[in-house]
Amino acid sequence: MASSNKFSRRSFIRTGSLGIGALALGPALSSFVLATGKAKKKLGIALVGLGSYSGGQLAPALQHTKDCYLAGIVTGTPAKAVDWAKKYNIPQKNIYNYQNFHEIANNPDIDIVYVVLPVSMHKEYTIKAAQAGKHVICEKPMALNAKDCEDMIAACKKANRLLSIGYRLHFEPHNVEIMRLGQQHILGNIKHIDTGNGFTYNGDPNAWRLKKALAGGGGLMDMGIYSIQGTRYTLGQEPVAVKATQQKLRPDFFKEVDETVFWELEFPGGLKTTGKSSYNNDWSYLKVEAEQGNFELGPAFGYGGIEGSVNGNPMKYPQIIQQAAQMDDFAKCVTLNKPSRVPGEEGLKDMKVVDAIYKSLDSGKWERIS
Ligand code: NAD
Repeated sequence: MASSNKFSRRSFIRTGSLGIGALALGPALSSFVLATGKAKKKLGIALVGLGSYSGGQLAPALQHTKDCYLAGIVTGTPAKAVDWAKKYNIPQKNIYNYQNFHEIANNPDIDIVYVVLPVSMHKEYTIKAAQAGKHVICEKPMALNAKDCEDMIAACKKANRLLSIGYRLHFEPHNVEIMRLGQQHILGNIKHIDTGNGFTYNGDPNAWRLKKALAGGGGLMDMGIYSIQGTRYTLGQEPVAVKATQQKLRPDFFKEVDETVFWELEFPGGLKTTGKSSYNNDWSYLKVEAEQGNFELGPAFGYGGIEGSVNGNPMKYPQIIQQAAQMDDFAKCVTLNKPSRVPGEEGLKDMKVVDAIYKSLDSGKWERIS
């Protein structure tokens, strides 16, 4: 996926007069004085799983955050522990592996655990982290299915810890503008949405992403989740039914997981929208047709380079480090003890749609989303 960190969050805050409440990030927490009279420290984040997203996006983003910092790591690869400790100045006492992970409970440097593992491991490590007394960010897709998402939400509630999903686009100005345009009916009621997300997968044929037991599914779980999210946050409504079809042009490569999936969602009142996901097509767009015109994003969902227009006029918002904004927002939520705007429930809603899409692929019929 495209990545551009050309614009810092600082430049975003300076440039961005978006008039959107959701984006009012406010001053950094480090400048807050708490009721106790003590200045609040930056919260410590431990990344669990040091793969390409942790290494390529999250750790670099944590060099730009104001309210949290990279305090610890959890890895099964000792050589990575050595490299990361050196590169990011992480003390030995904040480095864990999967066997001693539970000991993180005794480490006051770690406030938040960020689960960046293959999907099949999200549930286990989210629950373990909450039980260890840590607040949790879990990457998307939240889990293998909606039932697992419910278990994760319940475990975090029971442990009285906050849970958030790594939905970085809720902090990205063009996508936030799309939410405002759609949810506030700025161009009248929405008549149609079409969206797609995907990339042409030519990577390691043995990767976890191609194994059903580890990934849950293919392009739908990994990329389609953004199209489903995009449709939901443009409308601000939950779909009630779905009909899906699929295409496999490379069945030898995508043996266990879906390659390209097409779906139609039905919303309350009868509106129907279309969406698609793929591991064999480069898509990233969201097109909305409303009563008084059109608005769209394309590229819509990457780490940077996002562009949008309203009735043909380009949106003029900066690119930001989405992950820095996302993690700083969660740090504020933890400090102020208020739910994230992307809580576990948001991940659950998407997984209910995903579950129904797989059901529809099996049945060939419209399926209810419940
Ligand atoms: P990756 O394969 O690069 O990294 C996965 C990490 O998990 C590796 O460090 C690997 O060593 C570790 N791991 C531990 N146990 C493993 C096992 N049994 N099998 C395989 N790996 C194991 O994957 P990634 O691209 O970093 O993705 C990790 C998570 O982050 C996924 O949930 C993915 O969907 C999510 N992600 C999110 C975004 C985003 O934009 N929000 C982008 C990329 C990835």
